[in-house]
Amino acid sequence: MPGDPQDDCLFCKIVAGHIPATIVRETDTTVAFRDINPQAPTHVLVIPRVHYPDAASLAAAEPAVAADILRDAGGIAADEKLDSYRIVFNTGTGVGQTVFHAHAHLLGGRGMTWPPG
Ligand code: 5GP
Ligand code: ZN
Repeated sequence: MPGDPQDDCLFCKIVAGHIPATIVRETDTTVAFRDINPQAPTHVLVIPRVHYPDAASLAAAEPAVAADILRDAGGIAADEKLDSYRIVFNTGTGVGQTVFHAHAHLLGGRGMTWPPG
């Protein structure tokens, strides 16, 4: 079924508690945890409990959960006292997506250039 856990998915294993993570926020629909290889002083991944390969497919199937991810990213940014931050959804190998379970990167705590690399 769309949205069901995938045996070979790292982030489904984190949702299930089978792989440890430094969790900063949990809701009925989402889990947020610190990236293992942080690219900024704050680098948190916000993921849905349900499995979809990328953010757009999540939003098409379960738009309320996609909105929850944005709500949580904003809440964590406020908790971390970030007045500027970036939310990134890498989609596809060509732009660096490596985990095919939808996730937002919340990045902040340092200056960033635009356009991104
Ligand atoms: P992507 O490249 O798919 O947009 O982002 C995947 C992110 O997951 C990367 O930033 C990577 O550092 C992070 N990551 C990969 N494996 C683990 C892990 O086992 N634990 C945590 N906390 N983050 C991970
Ligand atoms: Zn998954």
